[in-house]
Amino acid sequence: MKYDYLIVGSGLFGSIFAYEMSKIGKKCLIIEKRDHIGGNVFTKSIENINVHKYGAHIFHTNDKEVWEYISQFAEFNRYTNSPVAIYKDELFNLPFNMNTFYQMWGVKSPAEAKKIIAKQKKESNIDNPSNLEEKAISLVGKDIYEKLIKGYTEKQWGKKCCELPSFIIERLPVRFIFDNNYFNDLYQGIPLGGYTKIIQKLLNNVEVKLNCDFFDEREKWEKIADKIVFTGMIDQYYDYCFGELEYRSLNFKHYIKDTDNYQGNAVINFTESSIPFTRIIEHKHFEKTESEKTIITEEYPSPWEKGMEAYYPINDEKNSNIFKKYDDLSNKESNVIFGGRLAKYKYYDMWEVIKEALATVKKELND
Ligand code: FAD
Ligand code: UDP
Repeated sequence: MKYDYLIVGSGLFGSIFAYEMSKIGKKCLIIEKRDHIGGNVFTKSIENINVHKYGAHIFHTNDKEVWEYISQFAEFNRYTNSPVAIYKDELFNLPFNMNTFYQMWGVKSPAEAKKIIAKQKKESNIDNPSNLEEKAISLVGKDIYEKLIKGYTEKQWGKKCCELPSFIIERLPVRFIFDNNYFNDLYQGIPLGGYTKIIQKLLNNVEVKLNCDFFDEREKWEKIADKIVFTGMIDQYYDYCFGELEYRSLNFKHYIKDTDNYQGNAVINFTESSIPFTRIIEHKHFEKTESEKTIITEEYPSPWEKGMEAYYPINDEKNSNIFKKYDDLSNKESNVIFGGRLAKYKYYDMWEVIKEALATVKKELND
């Protein structure tokens, strides 16, 4: 065999695995179907602004080890994500906190906010929330659900809120203090210079072939290394033998605008259903880049079909049952390692992928 590891995919998982293994002398080859490294964290400098080509990526974690690990490869700024939501002609702070409650109801104390939420929950007759709609109403009441959650969520996922699992809405904090920080994590920031620089450092000593899809020459790739690390879609790897998993896709429309400040914030969410995109990102605010122009990106959710980029796994019951079968099969493989958001079919944030990659390396070295 020519290589110790063939790594399919140059996202965070594949790149960290390759970096760690190369460091101890293992020969790794990465193949990547896109024309660039980095997977969805890829950033590109345009007009001197680091553009997050696949949507806003804000690094956040509570895990000190992960934070220290990633900080070896970049200096992070102190960016705090504080998105603003627009619903028709009203503006609200996110995540759901005392500022939101004041804007929604005019209440100034936590007790008043809690009272309204309890009343709206009671009127909706929800005792044991069993889906996203019920969970959202029980957490923040019907008004916030109607204005800030329903439209956004149904555009994002292409499903009714009552058909979606509640863990999706539990990603967002609900706070009874005046605090617009979108995340609860201790560590948060944007890598100065963009994420691609991190991936370049990780892959400095690793051979990478771009524009190369594993499935185009599967037999050849299966013979090139002792082991395969696969970070693509697990159902595709197994030729959909247990059926297709559902994903959600996105379209990004990038625009250069002839103004130095288009929307005054990095992330603005558009929560009403009649606007087809979910959010607009203004990239320069992530790193406070000084420039005469600005670059914005509209993010349009879209149904996923074979051949499109699969951005989000849909972790409802039906798909979780199908995934379980693939996962059981994958656990029996001795020469193929599955990792990352697509192979594990999990709604992973970056820190979770890093943690999983480091744990996988550790396990591989101990086995
Ligand atoms: P990926 O980045 O998807 O990498 C997999 C790579 O494998 C890709 O480059 C793909 O092209 C390649 N590949 C797949 N199949 C094949 C094949 N057959 N042959 C060759 N190559 C293949 N996380 C956060 O922590 N904070 C955020 O703010 C945040 N925002 C996000 C916003 C959006 C819109 C999205 C979609 C995700 C966001 N994430 C965020 C999650 C983050 O992007 C992921 O956790 C992380 O990038 C996953 O890394 P990965 O290596 O598992 O997968
Ligand atoms: N969400 C919402 N309104 C918003 C922002 C988020 O209803 O203004 C819901 C929506 O269901 C979304 C989920 O919260 O899918 C998680 O939001 P997050 O910002 O974590 O989504 P991501 O950045 O991963 O797309």
